[in-house]
Amino acid sequence: MNEVLNNKYPYLSKFFETAITQNRLFHSIILYGSNNYIQYAMALELARQLNCLEDKKTDCNCQNCRWIRANQHPAIMTISKIDNKTDSSKTVISEEQINMVLDTLINSSDYHRVFIFCDAEIKKLSSAEITEYTEFKNTGFTLPQPEQEEKIWYPSGINTNCFSTVAANSMLKSIEEPASKITFIFLTNNKDDLLQTIVSRSQSFYVADSKHINYFVDFFKKYFDNYPAFNRANALDFVKTLLAYQTENNCEPIYIMDCIQYYLTEILKANNNNKYIANKIFKDIEKIENSKKMLRSYIKEQTVYEDLAFYLAE
Ligand SMILES: [Zn+2]
Repeated sequence: MNEVLNNKYPYLSKFFETAITQNRLFHSIILYGSNNYIQYAMALELARQLNCLEDKKTDCNCQNCRWIRANQHPAIMTISKIDNKTDSSKTVISEEQINMVLDTLINSSDYHRVFIFCDAEIKKLSSAEITEYTEFKNTGFTLPQPEQEEKIWYPSGINTNCFSTVAANSMLKSIEEPASKITFIFLTNNKDDLLQTIVSRSQSFYVADSKHINYFVDFFKKYFDNYPAFNRANALDFVKTLLAYQTENNCEPIYIMDCIQYYLTEILKANNNNKYIANKIFKDIEKIENSKKMLRSYIKEQTVYEDLAFYLAE
């Protein structure tokens, strides 16, 4: 995995790496959060991992990696209201664009095709946006359009205004019954900005806009000793432990969720060949994504922890 992304998002990086190796990545992925440059880099990195012909290292020099780093790979397309246009509409991802995407899927390809959907504009960046852009450049990737006299391609989250229900709906069948070696990636600020029918067919990941993170797992590890079995009698104790750790260390509840997901990917790595455990972990990771969504909707953390504990104990 790309080193900048790996340092910043160790859990997500590890998860994607494992999911790709095990061929378990969904055909439709939603990356959501507030920093769209980093989401865009993450999407390109996924495309690179899916297409690398060699060892997938950050500086791999195979043709696919070189093309993707330069944002010139023929099978990796950014779809926005200003990228890969086939008609004159300027404010939306149009039905024509979607038809163009669907047309390219008719023929098979040696490449793993990746379509990255986002909103975008060419503009002068604010200083906060320049910081995000600099971080993007540090990943070694390139934007889809070159700088034009201080104006820079700026990605933002897709929503129902720039991606109409009609256009989105025409993709549903392809998302539901995808041909092999095709991945759709949607960048958005909030999952609720996307058509629910797409969300329900996709795997969603919150890309937090945080600094380098270390994950601590020792405080809750023992509850997973017999995983996938999770003792119901311990559920409330588990909740208490999470709450106590959160208070003592003054950390965000979403961080605690990240730690648990991170630990699950560790278990996954150790049980690579156990299909039953792997399936359970993928389900649990999705459940925790949902817990994060509850936290972001300001549901009390105790309620969210309890909901998770009883789900694990089912
Ligand atoms: Zn490569």
